[in-house]
Amino acid sequence: MAETKYIFTTGGVASSLGKGIISSSLAKLLIARGFRVTIQKLDPYINIDPGTLNPYEHGECYVTDDGAETDLDLGHYERFTNEPTSQANNVTTGRIYQAVIDKERRGDYLGETVQVIPHITDEIKHRIQILGNSRKFDFVITEIGGTVGDIESLPYIEAVRQMKWEFGNRCLVIHLTLVPFLASSGELKTKPTQHSVKTLLESGVQPDIIVCRTEKHLNQALRNKIALFCNVTPSAVIESIDVETIYDVPMLMRDEKLDQVVLEKMQVPIRKEPDLIKWEEFLFRLKHPVGEVKIGLVGKYVELKDSYKSILEAFIHAGAANQYKVHVRMIHSESINESSVNKLLADLDGILVAPGFGERGIDGKICSIKYARENNVPFLGICLGMQCAVVEFGRNVLGLKDAHSTEMNASTSYPVIDIMADQKSVSNKGGTMRLGSYPCSIRKDSLAYKIYGIAEIRERHRHRYEFNNAYLEQFEKAGMLPVGINKTDNLVEMIELQGHPWFLAVQFHPEYRSTVANPHPLFVNFVAAAITHLKKRQ
Ligand code: GLN
Repeated sequence: MAETKYIFTTGGVASSLGKGIISSSLAKLLIARGFRVTIQKLDPYINIDPGTLNPYEHGECYVTDDGAETDLDLGHYERFTNEPTSQANNVTTGRIYQAVIDKERRGDYLGETVQVIPHITDEIKHRIQILGNSRKFDFVITEIGGTVGDIESLPYIEAVRQMKWEFGNRCLVIHLTLVPFLASSGELKTKPTQHSVKTLLESGVQPDIIVCRTEKHLNQALRNKIALFCNVTPSAVIESIDVETIYDVPMLMRDEKLDQVVLEKMQVPIRKEPDLIKWEEFLFRLKHPVGEVKIGLVGKYVELKDSYKSILEAFIHAGAANQYKVHVRMIHSESINESSVNKLLADLDGILVAPGFGERGIDGKICSIKYARENNVPFLGICLGMQCAVVEFGRNVLGLKDAHSTEMNASTSYPVIDIMADQKSVSNKGGTMRLGSYPCSIRKDSLAYKIYGIAEIRERHRHRYEFNNAYLEQFEKAGMLPVGINKTDNLVEMIELQGHPWFLAVQFHPEYRSTVANPHPLFVNFVAAAITHLKKRQ
């Protein structure tokens, strides 16, 4: 396609309607038609990135190959499209303002009064077009965070208005709203949608397509009514009904012809129907499991599922790959201790100890790992989960009494996990961890090698602490093997336990790379090990 086209998704009526999933589904459909598509998220908060946010605030922080700490929606984009995202795919108000203020200090605007319009909106438009100007994409889908009418999203909506004006039908706006069902009157209500479109119109933006999230089907009369009140064609009123899995949404959007309407409105010739055979196969395996395994996810943010979004999704992909339902039981690490552990973990077929920061819940994590090690239960440790596995082994196998990570106990006599050399001088918290994709070399005589099938891999990281090489020999002799190493910095990236059926822990985050098209081999194999464990017990 000659020039990149820009599609915006805005949200009205309520938050959490699933703009990310609609954007991802549309991207999936366009890619399945042979177009090159990327998705970007504009977040209206003032943090530079979500890296400094507590997971309770905004869910998981998703990390890209290039080391950007981003909104969890980027995880959905990658899982649906199977295309990597980057720093350019997530922009916050903080980043926009920082760029404008830096320019002001440099003197780029000498003599001018720096204002929201045009300076902030110009910066927003620039960020939207960075991906388009790379010439790598036919479509850039930009999701505007928040809900129309929010004070903080106004500059973004204004930038959309300007781009629509300047780019004509190279720009298109999809507005996602809620059509609530009122049980008392037994009716679906369109008024909130009408109001939210009016709010958008007050800012000068006429949506081209309205996607209606609903729990009951919209009939034609209702679609006509929304079309009439909101100045769109009836074919541009798209139903998005509640479904059992987010992975159904691309199919729904295909049936509702969302992609076709987009192409027609942007006057793009329709080349071919979307090829979704692989996706359909995935859905079939997901929905027709031949059995069920129970995995315990031991973490400290278990009240909020979004905190472990990518891990939970990776289990869905891995479950489908094995055609097994993976039932993930979230277990609060603070509830686990020597006297509760046997009871809490007894019926699990696999145990995953989650990533995390800080002291809270550490003892429960260590206790769970001891249980998995002693009872031959398949175990996967991720990041802090690997560090806890090292601490547990140090204490309980090597007899290093108060072994710990210096993150939790700076004065431990056995700092088996220690801060990385280049982190010692770092005091700023934002964007300063070891972040993003790094190479790792896998030992050929390992379980890890069997799983990956290759010796040189790349995985994404987000940490400050690492295995302390001073203890390497001692651990290896006793059977905890460093099977994956980053040779450049001599860092232990993967460990496994000799003599245990499946005990693997990794310093990186495999969950960020699991997609529908490429379920992550570690998760796929961990679930397979859990199935074997279950069968053995039966
Ligand atoms: N807190 C640990 C570190 O900084 C682990 C981080 C993580 O689990 N992502 O190294």
